[in-house]
Amino acid sequence: MTDSGAIGVIAVTERGRTAAGRLQAAWPDRVRTFTEDRAGEQLRSAFADCGAVVAFLAVGAAVRALAPVLGDKHTDPPVVCVDEALQHAVAVLGGHHGGNALAGEVAGVLGCRPVVTTASDAASAAPLDSYGADLGFTVADTAPLAPAGAALLSGRPVRLEYGGAPAWPLPPLPPNASAGTPAESAEALLRITDRAAAPEAAPAVPTVTYRPPSLVVGVGSARGASGEEVGALVDRTLAEAGLAAQSVRALATVDVKADEEGILRAAAERGWPVRIFSADELAGVDVPNPSDVVRAEVGTPSVAEAAALRAAGEDGAAAELVAAKHKSANATAAVARLRPRGRLALVGLGPGARDLAAPRALAELHRASVVVGLDQYLDQVRDLLRPGTRTMASGLGQEEERARTAVAEARAGAAVALIGSGDAGVYAMASPALDFAGRDIDVVGVPGITAAVAAAHRLGAPLGHDHAYISLSDLHTPWEAIERRVRAAAEGDFTVCFYNPRSRRRDWQLPEALRVLAGHRPAATPVGYVRNAARGDEHAAVTTLAAMLDGEAEEVDMYTVVLVGSSASRTVAGRFVTPRGYTWRG
Ligand code: SAH
Repeated sequence: MTDSGAIGVIAVTERGRTAAGRLQAAWPDRVRTFTEDRAGEQLRSAFADCGAVVAFLAVGAAVRALAPVLGDKHTDPPVVCVDEALQHAVAVLGGHHGGNALAGEVAGVLGCRPVVTTASDAASAAPLDSYGADLGFTVADTAPLAPAGAALLSGRPVRLEYGGAPAWPLPPLPPNASAGTPAESAEALLRITDRAAAPEAAPAVPTVTYRPPSLVVGVGSARGASGEEVGALVDRTLAEAGLAAQSVRALATVDVKADEEGILRAAAERGWPVRIFSADELAGVDVPNPSDVVRAEVGTPSVAEAAALRAAGEDGAAAELVAAKHKSANATAAVARLRPRGRLALVGLGPGARDLAAPRALAELHRASVVVGLDQYLDQVRDLLRPGTRTMASGLGQEEERARTAVAEARAGAAVALIGSGDAGVYAMASPALDFAGRDIDVVGVPGITAAVAAAHRLGAPLGHDHAYISLSDLHTPWEAIERRVRAAAEGDFTVCFYNPRSRRRDWQLPEALRVLAGHRPAATPVGYVRNAARGDEHAAVTTLAAMLDGEAEEVDMYTVVLVGSSASRTVAGRFVTPRGYTWRG
């Protein structure tokens, strides 16, 4: 039986079987292993029964075995082959239908390299057949994908049309594809619309129509209304409003109708989930066509219109009614359109080295169509951005402007990444951005390795017990407040991490803070400082509180983080160690 969630793993050699075991350990619920000797047969059964296939086989052997059973790239499962030396995970089939991603995941588990050969990924452009897939887009007709993809990749002018609907937080397209391309010169069209095409309006150039999941159909019915009646009414309501059924994301109704056979039947036949709301929830929705009869019967003056608007407006999205109430003998239907929400990703890139940035952070950069940040960070990641990504740089000290810009772009519907070093939430852009962000956008945070943590590993294990982060920048915080916290950390015997420790104009704060700490812990207390942790010119030193106060603090600048031990911290073999606990080692 086909199990679309299963990954069939074919391994016929000892090494292959061991590696298959690693995949199984990583994905226990998904992997089904095929480890008997007849590789070809095993591969064909996995291909028939599983949603995806990983074969520890040569590409040639896999292709020969599968050639007779290959069908359509939209329905065949993706196939990834891994070589016997476990060096490459090659996306052989179905690259754009999960194969490229699977090759990446397999490579992640086995520590090998993903190999991707599909044209649009190689050019780092969005593959047209999965464009917007993570937003729920579907392609209305797959035939124009190939010619439109060819136009896109060869740099010819391609026009993007939103069909009047507001923008979705889409990934970028190469610069030759934009809303600004004049219709007359466009050699292909990408259309994002929930409107059904008028039959006479067949476009002259290859046109890919994407259906965004933007519509909700609200329905009500009398007891016992049939599935045919409800279905026919829904279809008519959509057709009369010129709307595409492929854009319907759900059917919505009131709880007392939740078990109405006709409603459930109509939804199931069309593959739509059913959303249920209580009469109270619906009674609060403002509708154009309320009815006293309905209110008396169900407790809300509207079912169809209110349920459609309520479901489309979930999560604070703005919703509008695009088809007012239609009636048949025993049912009512209405359609609402939701306004897509923009997306703001708050992305920390880690301290510097690319391999200390989270893969998720890199994926967010790839996903964004607008990236906002300081020039130096934008320069760090430019190679990761897809062609067509808009970058918005700003200088140091313009935090508020940067935060406002990022939020405004997301509010306008874009997929925005606001980037910074370390972690985005630690003395960084996440809080100013969230100060401006409302409920009308989606916010995604990606954790990053903050400077103190990166530095700690360079120094030893200074953060083994309780510690405090203190920023010594008094640009936005009065020195009295900072000093009070330093004193509290001194009295509490915390290991202390100083961020923004010293600059050309702020040179007395660090010695002052160190003096406060020295009043509560021995002069030999270890102090570590790291300049440019995890960057090309990294410099780390372990010294003592006394030496710092004796002038070594002058080595420190704005690119440095300073860690001062607690009274329990030690230097062991030149490394800065804070014991895990006072009774840990007896
Ligand atoms: N969001 C950042 C911190 C920004 S505040 C993070 O989580 O790391 C800026 C301060 O962080 C700098 O003055 C310095 O003290 C510290 N810092 C940031 N990156 C650093 C690095 N790679 N090496 C040493 N210190 C760093």
